[in-house]
Amino acid sequence: YVKERGRSDFRFYQKQMNIGLLSRMKMDHAMRQALDKQLFRLHYQPQIDLRSGEIFGVEALIRWRDEELGDISPARFIPIAEESGAIVPIGQWVMRTAIAQAACWYAAGQTLRMSFNVSALQFQQTNFVDGVAEAIREAGIPPSLVELELTESVLIRDAEETLKKLEALSQLGVSLSIDDFGTGYSSLSYLKRFPIRKLKIDRSFVEDLPHDESDIAIVTAIIHLAHAMKMRVIAEGVETAGQRDLLMQLGCDEVQGYLYSPALPPDQMSAMLAPA
Ligand code: C2E
Ligand code: MG
Ligand code: MG
Ligand code: MG
Repeated sequence: YVKERGRSDFRFYQKQMNIGLLSRMKMDHAMRQALDKQLFRLHYQPQIDLRSGEIFGVEALIRWRDEELGDISPARFIPIAEESGAIVPIGQWVMRTAIAQAACWYAAGQTLRMSFNVSALQFQQTNFVDGVAEAIREAGIPPSLVELELTESVLIRDAEETLKKLEALSQLGVSLSIDDFGTGYSSLSYLKRFPIRKLKIDRSFVEDLPHDESDIAIVTAIIHLAHAMKMRVIAEGVETAGQRDLLMQLGCDEVQGYLYSPALPPDQMSAMLAPA
């Protein structure tokens, strides 16, 4: 009897696994097709300098409107793309599109820093640094306008290889920031060895400001750590004036969030940069 039940449980799990596998494969296929059909778009969210109140830069965020599947959030498809490998061509497209847009704004007289997200698998490609250099050269913009947002997952593998790449990127003149800082599994020791310019305080630490005592302590510590190591610091997910006022009081350099603007399509972002 026990044996019988065990077997049917097994069959049940096997079926669940197949469904999981199938939808992943379908997703991978759909993502590669979306790339071919040019269904991906980049939206841009302003990053505001707290001292001047000016838009210092923008973060490029991918958007996918599929003919059949509708709008699919990057929070849902990026992790699948990371697993399937589709993130490599998608990431390449993001980089080229973001840098081309930066060149477009630069030509229009807007010296705006362009940040984009880089996945671990994309970063690990042997030709990654050359690809960045080539995209910047083709676009003809100062490399200092380009910022790569890396997560801690990029920094925990193969330390020697990672260090070489980060130093090459830094030599190139692009800046490097750590996204979702404080939520990963890495140790702080990488801050000592890697040429990181900026920390992005994760939204989860900002959400309950200005009231939550623990979050105040964590955010204060991150800002002090960043400044003591000559890095800049930006807070993501800023939605209220109360959050902004506290961040300003704590000496945070930049903010990004719905209080200012969500990510916008390029034409709307252009309008925001140069109001008619
Ligand atoms: P992330 O890089 O940490 O981006 C911040 C996310 O927070 C974005 O979600 C943004 O729209 C959202 N956000 C910004 N301000 C606020 C706010 O005030 N309140 C709230 N609740 N949310 C805010 P999005 O665009 O859905 O992207 C989710 C994640 O997907 C990103 O997190 C990033 O990890 C990934 N992602 C997005 N685009 C790309 C891409 O081009 N390449 C890669 N590798 N990952 C990407
Ligand atoms: Mg990011
Ligand atoms: Mg982030
Ligand atoms: Mg985040």
